[in-house]
Amino acid sequence: MLIDGKEYGSYPLEQDGTYDIVIDGHTNTLQIKDGYADMISADCPDQLCVKQRKIHYENETIVCLPNKLVVEIRGGEESSVDAVVQ
Ligand SMILES: [Zn+2]
Repeated sequence: MLIDGKEYGSYPLEQDGTYDIVIDGHTNTLQIKDGYADMISADCPDQLCVKQRKIHYENETIVCLPNKLVVEIRGGEESSVDAVVQ
């Protein structure tokens, strides 16, 4: 599902932070806190990504279809949150 996606950015899961992900003028705000990633706000019409649960485990995703964004937990030695544009 993500193979054809374009990598937007990668954020370490162990480091708290808030990131604005801007794609084609649309903004999703991703918060990383206590090892969990959560979509705290978005300008998409359905707000489904904001309502999704925060994610923590490898391969868990938060999807924002209107803004063509997938946020996925990548495992490994240093877990990270990768944002991929669909
Ligand atoms: Zn959304």
